[in-house]
Amino acid sequence: MADLIQGHQTDGVDETKTSPSRADMDIETQRRCVVLLSGGLDSTTTLAIAKSQGFDVYAMTFRYGQRHEAELEAARNVASHFEVCQHIVVEMDLRQFGGSALTGDLEVPKGRSEEEMAEAIPVTYVPARNTIFLSYALAWAEVLNSADIFIGVNSVDYSGYPDCRPEYIAAYQQMAELATRRGVEGDQGLTIHTPLSALTKGEIVRWGLQLGVDYSQTSTCYDPSSSGAACGECDACLLRLRGFADNGLQDPAPYQAQ
Ligand SMILES: [Zn+2]
Repeated sequence: MADLIQGHQTDGVDETKTSPSRADMDIETQRRCVVLLSGGLDSTTTLAIAKSQGFDVYAMTFRYGQRHEAELEAARNVASHFEVCQHIVVEMDLRQFGGSALTGDLEVPKGRSEEEMAEAIPVTYVPARNTIFLSYALAWAEVLNSADIFIGVNSVDYSGYPDCRPEYIAAYQQMAELATRRGVEGDQGLTIHTPLSALTKGEIVRWGLQLGVDYSQTSTCYDPSSSGAACGECDACLLRLRGFADNGLQDPAPYQAQ
């Protein structure tokens, strides 16, 4: 397991450090970070990683008019499970202009192969979502005097979203240096941590299980039932299911009967 994670340093921080030394802990427990938490598999694993690195975690979730509101309940459960310092749910309404299957009336695609997923940016892409979310996280981080933001973007098993790519994150970080008081006056620049960026879904699940993530609490589906049960057929469900299958495991989250 440890071998699996070795070598996935994506942003200058040793993401492999799950059991820091005593001296490291004394320093690191003074560090606050903001974690963008949707309540899904990736963001929950990212929160667990931030916590394992000794950060004091401040979790930020968005109620943005998404059709899959079940993830909000999941986010609350995850924040509670990991005993974060504070959990904020930001309200905004991206339905006012729609433009995505997640915030409008377009159908969520089902049953697509991974080749089809990789072909084009799908209708589940929410215009500029990560830029909006990161901007809120950046503002909160500045108030918290934090130099660290964690986001669970992934550029391996993903649906082709442009704002999940490493070059996007690098450019955003550069912008943040220019945009904030900390960037201009601070002695330590802002770091956007993307510990999952280069991992497969299977690797993400294995790391999360090592860190005590209870994936039955998480909600990934783009089109869940009113009770929150996953559809099992949208891109997000298919990638997630493969992540568990690659580990010889069953996803503990509830699914609708097929
Ligand atoms: Zn689904």
